[in-house]
Amino acid sequence: MAFEAIALGDVDHFDDTTDVLVVGLGAAGASAAIEARQAGAEVLVLERASAGGGSTALSGGFIYLGGGTRVQTLNGIEDTAEDMFQYLLANSPESDPKKIRLYADQSVAHFDWLEANAARFDDGYYPHKHYEHASAESLAWTGNELVWPFRERAKPAPRGHKMPGKDDKHVGVGETGGGGQVMMEGLIATARRLGARFEYDANAKQLIVDPAGRVVGLRYTRFQEDFFVRARKGVVLATGGFGANQAMMDEYCPELASDTIVKIGSTYIEGVGHRLGVSAGGALEHMDGYFVTSPFYPPESLLKGILVNKHGVRFVAEDSYHSRSTAACLKQPDQIAYLIVDNAIFGRSEFPHELIDAWESVEEMEAGLGLPEGSLTRTLETYNRHAADDDDPEFHKYPKFVQPLVEPPFAAINCSIGTAPFMGFTLGGLKTSVKGEVLTAAGAVIPGLYAAGACASNLAYDSMGYSSGACIGESTFFGRQCGIAAAQAAE
Ligand SMILES: Cc1cc2nc3c(=O)[nH]c(=O)nc-3n(C[C@H](O)[C@H](O)[C@H](O)COP(=O)(O)OP(=O)(O)OC[C@H]3O[C@@H](n4cnc5c(N)ncnc54)[C@H](O)[C@@H]3O)c2cc1C
Repeated sequence: MAFEAIALGDVDHFDDTTDVLVVGLGAAGASAAIEARQAGAEVLVLERASAGGGSTALSGGFIYLGGGTRVQTLNGIEDTAEDMFQYLLANSPESDPKKIRLYADQSVAHFDWLEANAARFDDGYYPHKHYEHASAESLAWTGNELVWPFRERAKPAPRGHKMPGKDDKHVGVGETGGGGQVMMEGLIATARRLGARFEYDANAKQLIVDPAGRVVGLRYTRFQEDFFVRARKGVVLATGGFGANQAMMDEYCPELASDTIVKIGSTYIEGVGHRLGVSAGGALEHMDGYFVTSPFYPPESLLKGILVNKHGVRFVAEDSYHSRSTAACLKQPDQIAYLIVDNAIFGRSEFPHELIDAWESVEEMEAGLGLPEGSLTRTLETYNRHAADDDDPEFHKYPKFVQPLVEPPFAAINCSIGTAPFMGFTLGGLKTSVKGEVLTAAGAVIPGLYAAGACASNLAYDSMGYSSGACIGESTFFGRQCGIAAAQAAE
């Protein structure tokens, strides 16, 4: 069977030997390679593509970091590791609190590590609400920190730190030359300088396991040729997500599998690491979890509108982080959602969301959208009555986004699935310890096997609690833990 582990006794020769074998050269793999080299281990990295970078290199390069980073401090932002811990815990209640604690406690040190090994963050702070601001400032609000109930669980602070784009310029989502590419070029250059070796066009196929169940190597192919590598200390799986594998999407993540959502990322995110891990006894976690977005803002004024479903009923705080509001739209009956605005706050969404129409009265709009008679009128009447007192008792929108919608004409912007670009990626992966060791369903460590990044499950596990930067944050941070642990393992 494809991906089934090979018994060591069935391997008659090894083509190469190393201490730590890293599979995949994205954020997680490069970070593991750097730490393992710094700990004195020999490191070989296998990368299926002809160059490193993976999905990370396509990203804008936001990393979720806090607790008093250099850029936070420079901009007068007060933040503590405890507030960051409480925020992440509130957003990711199914994640392991030990991992969140470690990540929050070491976040400032991780920021420093990224500056030392990848690239320097811009000093600036972007205070507005945007899905990915086009200017150079690194620090931005990239989560639900100011959104109820999270703002009551932890003192809000901006924690998204964007890597600079090429020549300090910003480039759009998925384009080359963005912060993700700059970061990957930096990390790969560091790993190379430290003496890691790289094999490209190297497609990992099967783990090699000794009679005691320890992972001791791997078979890969380059085009038609087979290669066997011995790993004295451990194998680190860092092959990214599984958005490019339709069969796995259908089986594990059916909501994201829909044709109406574009799966973004590298061509090779086919879940190979997930399957290799399972072949050695590893368990998978949160496999139905995903990130999805189709942001209706900016302009920021649109956050003062209300989202209603096909029953004319509100369902989420409209000032939520964009993946939270998008995910909430997808949970509505028939996945239909409309953003209702009035003339005072109207603006065209930067993303190409359809402007359905404008009407002189709420009653006409209700009929025009085919909503049940009286439904939208009631919803708006209740919303406006409280908004007149800057209040939103139903969803507790942040006061600056609460304003009565009373000035005609009234417009509806279509936030239903398929009417604008929706995009997403997978979040589920191998169950791991805080050190990145791959675990069985019962929690036992599989000796010699580590995993990090999008093929492991660490901090981010669904869109409702996602904050931009959590993926690259966990990929780099837990990639480092894998590199450290593997390098320290006994041969
Ligand atoms: C457009 C876009 C924007 C994003 N923006 C952000 C953001 O701003 N902040 C954030 O936190 N997250 C963001 N994400 C998500 C984030 O980029 C990923 O979750 C994260 O980078 C995953 O890192 P990784 O190292 O696990 O995987 P990747 O970077 O995908 O690297 C995996 C590598 O493994 C290789 N590989 C796969 N299979 C094999 C095999 N069989 N053998 C050998 N090699 C193999 C792949 O070729 C690839 O190079 C974004 C994603 C996209 C697509």
